[in-house]
Order: sequence, then C-alpha cells, then structure tokens
Amino acid sequence: MQNLNDAKLLKTASYIDGCWVESDAQLSVCNPAGGDVLVDISDASPAQAEEAVLAASKALAAWSGKTAQQRSVLLRAWYDLMIKHQDDLARILTLEQGKPLAEAKGEIAYGASFIEWFAEEGKRIYGDVIPAPGIDKRILVIKQPVGVVSAITPWNFPNAMIARKAAAALAAGCTFVVRPATQTPLSALAMAELAARAGIPAGVFNVVVGSDANGLGKVLTEHPAVAKFTFTGSTAVGKKLIAQCASTVKKVSMELGGNAPFIVFEDADLNAAVQGALVSKYRNAGQTCVCTNRILVHQDIYPQFCEKYTQAVAELKLGSGLDQDTQIGPMISAKAAQDVDALVQQSIAQGAKLVLGGSYAKQGDNFYLPTVMTDVTNDMPIACNEIFGPVSPIIRFSDEQHAIKLANDTQYGLAAYFYSRDIGRIFRVAEALDYGMIGINEGLISNATAPFGGMKQSGNGREGSHYGLDDYLEIKYLCLGGMEQ
Ligand code: NAP
Repeated sequence: MQNLNDAKLLKTASYIDGCWVESDAQLSVCNPAGGDVLVDISDASPAQAEEAVLAASKALAAWSGKTAQQRSVLLRAWYDLMIKHQDDLARILTLEQGKPLAEAKGEIAYGASFIEWFAEEGKRIYGDVIPAPGIDKRILVIKQPVGVVSAITPWNFPNAMIARKAAAALAAGCTFVVRPATQTPLSALAMAELAARAGIPAGVFNVVVGSDANGLGKVLTEHPAVAKFTFTGSTAVGKKLIAQCASTVKKVSMELGGNAPFIVFEDADLNAAVQGALVSKYRNAGQTCVCTNRILVHQDIYPQFCEKYTQAVAELKLGSGLDQDTQIGPMISAKAAQDVDALVQQSIAQGAKLVLGGSYAKQGDNFYLPTVMTDVTNDMPIACNEIFGPVSPIIRFSDEQHAIKLANDTQYGLAAYFYSRDIGRIFRVAEALDYGMIGINEGLISNATAPFGGMKQSGNGREGSHYGLDDYLEIKYLCLGGMEQ
C-alpha cells in the first residue's frame, strides 16, 4: 500500500454524509495472494448504516432538485478523477481482490465508463405526451428519481459493481448508500474519496463498510427511508434480500448468479472459439458471473476443440496479481478454492476426465490450477453448479436442438455464448436461449452502452445503457382535465 502515488486514496473508515466516520470495532483487509493483512479499518455498525440512510434522505431534495446538466458536470469530474488515478485504484484493487494488475486497470476503466455514460444519459430522461381518450383532457408522463437507493455489492468487481449502480442512480437524481463486500472495501472507499474531490455533495454517495452482513443488510433492505434496493451477488443471498425488501415494498433490482453455456457449433471458426472461450472463462480466475461455466461442443469437432483449447489453457500464467506476466491470480479465499476442488473431484468420481490441472497450485491454498475436464455431462456437479473458479468442463452435443436443450437446462439465465457462421442458426439459437445476454462469436460482452442483466433466477433489472436508468426512475402520469373552452 505504501507504493500508491496518492496515499490519501487509502481510507480506513466509512464515508457517511461527507465525513469519514470511525467505529470502535476494527476489521482486517487481507491480500488473497499470501493472506497478509493489508490494513485494519473501522467496522461499521448497523446504527452507522442507518446514519448513512438518513444522510442520503436529507441530501435527496437538493440533489434531485439540480438540473441533469449540473449533475452531469459533477459525475464527469468523478469520472475524470477515476481515470487520473487509474494506476492507484488498480493497485488497491489487485491488493485486496487478487486479479492481475492489467485486469484491475481494465476494471477501473470499465467502472469509470459507466460514470461517463450516465453523466450524459442523465440528460436524456424524457417524458411523454399520450393522446387522451377525451377532448377535455391531456395526458402527460414524467419521470422522477425513485429516491434513496441502497446497494450491496460483491468482492469480484470491487469498483465496477458499485460504479454501474451509483452512476445510474446519481444521474437519475437519487442519492445512494452502498455496503461493499467485507473482503474488498478499499476500492469502494477510494471511490468515495474521489467523489468528494469531484464535488459530489455530502450525503449523495455514502459507503458503509462493516462485517455484519446481516445487520447492515437489514437496515439497507428494511429502512422505510430507502425507496429502492439493488444487489449484486449470489442467487441464494439475493432471494433472502428480496424477501426482506417485501416488508416495505421496495423496488428491487438483482444481478445474481449465472451458469453460462459456451456453445461451439460444427460450423464455428475453431480458433476464434478457443480464444473466446479462454477470455470468457479465465478472466478474474473464473470468478465472474458471466464466466463460461460449461463448454458445449458439437460431437464432430469435439476432439479438435478439446486439444486446441487445452493447449491454450496450459499456457496461462498463474501467480500474484502484482507480477507483470500473471494472467490468473489467486482465488478470493482458500474456502473458494476448496469449493471449486470439491466440484472437480465429485465430477471425476462420476466419470468426468481430467485433462489439465485439477489441484491447488504451488503458490498457496488460494491458488487453483487452470483446469480442463472432458466427457462431462450436464448433470455433473461441475456443470450444474456455478463454478466461480478456473475450471472448464467440456460437454458433447449431437445437434442444434440438443445444444439448446442442454444450455437452457439450468435455473440461471444470465449470459450465454455461441460460435457459428450460419446466419439462420445465429438467429434461431439467439432467440431460443433463455438468457439475458448472448455473445455470438464473442466472449467479452459487457460495456456501459449495453444492457447487462439476467433472466430466470439470475435476477431482474438491467445495468448500463439507456435501459439502466429505468431502474432508478418512477413513471408519473399527469392527467390535465378541463381543457375545453
Ligand atoms: P454473496 O455471498 O451473495 O455476497 C454478495 C454480497 O452480499 C457481499 O457484500 C456479502 O457480504 C453480502 N451478503 C451476504 N450475505 C448477506 C446477508 N445475509 N445480508 C446482507 N448481505 C449479505 O456473493 P459473492 O460470493 O460475494 O459473489 C459471488 C456471486 O455474485 C456469484 O453468484 C456471482 O455470479 C454473483 N455476481 C453476479 C453479478 C451480476 O451482475 N449478475 C456480478 C458479480 C457477481 P460479505 O462480503 O460480508 O459476505
């Protein structure tokens, strides 16, 4: 941490109502590549989460009362500061999360791009005029901010998962309280420091860091001053939080787990498919919600694909995220690596063939070797669970209908990918897949201009694009009567 260009980006207390608020209790933030403590920080209480909600509530009238142009200028300043401090933000992110520095820099640019996008898009929140059913009436529709927004975010993208939500909320005129994951609070606090420097007023963007997930979560999901709750994390926790929001009928949006199929048809460009699968699978050591979870390959090209893909995976370099040539960093914890290993071993016991990896790496308990398994079937644990680790199970299919059936045979519906050069097939398959996002001959699909989100038990709502503002807006209908002379 000593190597930051701007040491003031390292914060150790929650950011509430424009102040850095300490707590009596402390929590340690550790480096997943080695486990050493990076820094001890204040561990906020549920009472402090409530202070943050009340601060956001107090700040709401002034913030929503600004023009979209005024909010845009402040958001743009925040974006500029994130880009200016990209190197420091990336270093903080790699230290607390583990991903390679190049990926961390990419995440900062990606997170910032949402702030830039919504700074502009906030100026285009248009209403509507609808032809009325009677000549004495006029019908107008206006859109207004929903109010105070609370958020809970995961550790796998400590910057971007916050930026995606906060940028849209603030642009829409809402105020915001986020509780980041316990393992990765430092990126969130650095964002708060830059929001303050950008001139975003006190109470508009609050960060509450606390290890009491239940206690803080209850405040953020049940407090009557919160109008909308947005969550990114696992489906299991998301379900629980939706239930908590029911007591005050909050608006909710959920970005939950996934089980992405990556289908390689017999007419695919095989080299392109190998590269696409590689980036979509091994980014962030396989710990992204849109990571390929199952690779489905047509039986005619199964041996060729498996051979080329395994060769490419074998070349990936594993190590500390701070090392220049690392392509795969540690997993977030030893427990996460154990969970992945359990899925691998259970599936081998059920007949899957291990062709690469399949064990812990020499670097330590948090490191799991890039792994490839063949002869996998859709019902094996490695295929029907969200892996969230660097393992590629490869499944054989016989024809298009079979591929679609296997791909859709899951409770999840976040991202899916397929490779084909046949335009008719491209439309048929894209329409038949029950997923919110489809990569066609493309393994990287997420950007600020496109709507990110899932179907089925992968959640609801969309982040990014012009659709991303809708989750933070109320539609209000005005009926003007007495219009006849
Ligand atoms: P998680 O266990 O659901 O945790 C996510 C967040 O929820 C963390 O901040 C966690 O706090 C908090 N939390 C856990 N239990 C809680 C409770 N009872 N009340 C309130 N908050 C609670 O998920 P994760 O393991 O961190 O993240 C991985 C999951 O996120 C995967 O399923 C992945 O697919 C999903 N994800 C989805 C998207 C998307 O856009 N769809 C993006 C990224 C990740 P602690 O840190 O204290 O545990």
